[in-house]
Formats: sequence, C-alpha cells, structure tokens
Amino acid sequence: MIRGTTKLIAHLGYPTSTFKAPMIYNPWFEHRGIDAVVVPMGCKPADYAAFLPLLFRLSNIHGALITMPHKVATVELADRVSVTAQIAGSANALRLAEDGRLEADMFDGEGFVAGVLGKGQQLAGRSALVVGCGGVGSAIAASLAKAGIARLALFDPSAASADALAGRLRSAYAELVVTTGAKDPAGFDLVVNASPLGMNADDPLPMDVERIDPSAFVGEVVMKSEMTPFLAAAAARGCRYQVGTDMLFEQIPAYLEFFGFGRPPV
Ligand code: NAD
Repeated sequence: MIRGTTKLIAHLGYPTSTFKAPMIYNPWFEHRGIDAVVVPMGCKPADYAAFLPLLFRLSNIHGALITMPHKVATVELADRVSVTAQIAGSANALRLAEDGRLEADMFDGEGFVAGVLGKGQQLAGRSALVVGCGGVGSAIAASLAKAGIARLALFDPSAASADALAGRLRSAYAELVVTTGAKDPAGFDLVVNASPLGMNADDPLPMDVERIDPSAFVGEVVMKSEMTPFLAAAAARGCRYQVGTDMLFEQIPAYLEFFGFGRPPV
C-alpha cells in the first residue's frame, strides 16, 4: 500500500506505455515489506532538464529509474557520475545521496556481466569482442572493463563511436588493451552482439559466426526473439550463450542495492 511514508522511485522516460519496471519492482517491494513504490512518469525530452531538479526537491523522493530517451542527458544533469556511467556516456539510475547530491550510475552492462558470470564464465584476464558501440554496447564494454577483462576489441560502422569509447576506456583502465576497427571473432573468449542486427528478419549476422571459437561464450542484446539467428548459429557451433533478456533481469539486484534495499535472495 502507498502511504505518506512511502519512498518514491520515479520511472522516467517517454512514452511510458511499454514500461515493465513497475510490474517487476512493486510486487517485490510488497512481498518483502519494503515501503517504496516505482511510479511511471512520462517526461518529454524538452522538459527533462527542468523537471528533474524539481522532482528531486520532493521530500519523499528516493531515486529514479531512467529509460529512453533520457539516459544520455542524465549524465549531464547528475552531480556525481560513476566511472561506468561516464564511460558508457549514459545512466539508468539516479539516487539522492545523504549530502543532497544527485548520483548517477549505469546498470545495463552490469546486468550483462552478472548474467555471464552467473553462467560460470570467467571474465578477469580474458578477451572480448563487442560489435556495436551505441548505448548498450558502450555500457557492456564499461562493465567488462570493470570486471577485469584484459583485452577488448570494439567494432562499430561508425569508427568515431568505437574510437571515442576506446579512448574513455583507456583513460579509466590503463592496463586494458583496447583495439578498434575489426570484427573477426576468432580467438576471443567472449563475443557480444550489441548492435541492432537481428531486429529485422532480413538482417545479416553481426559477424562471421564460423570464425567464433566453439569454446567461446556468446552474448546477445537483441530481444526480438529469445534465440536470434546469431545465437542459433553460435549454439550450432557448440558455443555457450546468453540471451538478450538476461541483461535486463540480471541488473535488478544491482538496482535494488543502489537504492539501499539489499540484494534479493538467489
Ligand atoms: P544505439 O542506437 O544506441 O546503438 C546501436 C549501435 O549499433 C550504433 O552505434 C550503430 O552504429 C551500431 N550498428 C548499426 N549497425 C551495425 C552493424 N551492422 N554492425 C555493428 N554495429 C552496428 O542502440 P542501443 O540502445 O545500443 O541498442 C542496441 C540493441 O540493443 C537494440 O536492438 C535494442 O533493442 C537492444 N537493447 C537491448 C536491451 C536488453 O536489455 N537486452 C536493452 C536496451 C536495448
């Protein structure tokens, strides 16, 4: 039940009709007896910079989940931004710190990494290829670096996007070897499709799947179908894999911890 004491977590995006978070978090809060509620709030892009500071003037606001189209703008509007969100160039969580400052973090890549680790795949000291360096690919690359990946190859048709991401990664992780410009998956321990390829029936595969080592672990971000053509082709080679929705669900514990509600039991 929503009371006067209830902590308000805004779910900010536009439009709101596709939001899933209220149905995920509110039953969980109810079940655990946590006095908090996630409220969808449709905020148009032109209003966001003015609305966000006012929202956080409310006495019962606790934090916010951020989704499209506000993830990039949030980095500019927060007082403190995690290294992961700085590298990703976007944030999907905001909370009010005890000193009244607004703190931003990004959990898309954390969810991807948690899923991979949860399936028994090591990341520290290993190599990864990330194809697609937009919002999701940048977040995944940032979290892979945080998880201790030793060698990271980035590919995007926009060389400027891949090179800019590589620069941010090198600045934050001096030991990390980052390369750009090639998408040959041969020799990588982890291979990730972080491009939209797979959304349309006639899309080509994001890379030459025949060159993926059968021992490699393969990750997908596209959620159009659970087994995308890319995953099906990799699985046929014997690769273990992670589906697109895993990234979404595996970030829930990180969000809950960020808001101070603890980690749900495994
Ligand atoms: P985006 O537009 O920010 O970035 C997409 C990137 O892919 C761009 O940099 C683009 O240049 C690149 N790209 C386009 N064609 C390519 C190609 N042929 N080869 C390699 N790279 C190519 O989009 P985004 O927000 O990063 O989303 C990417 C995909 O992830 C979408 O399909 C989206 O639906 C999906 N997504 C999944 C989740 C999840 O939880 N699994 C969450 C958000 C988005």
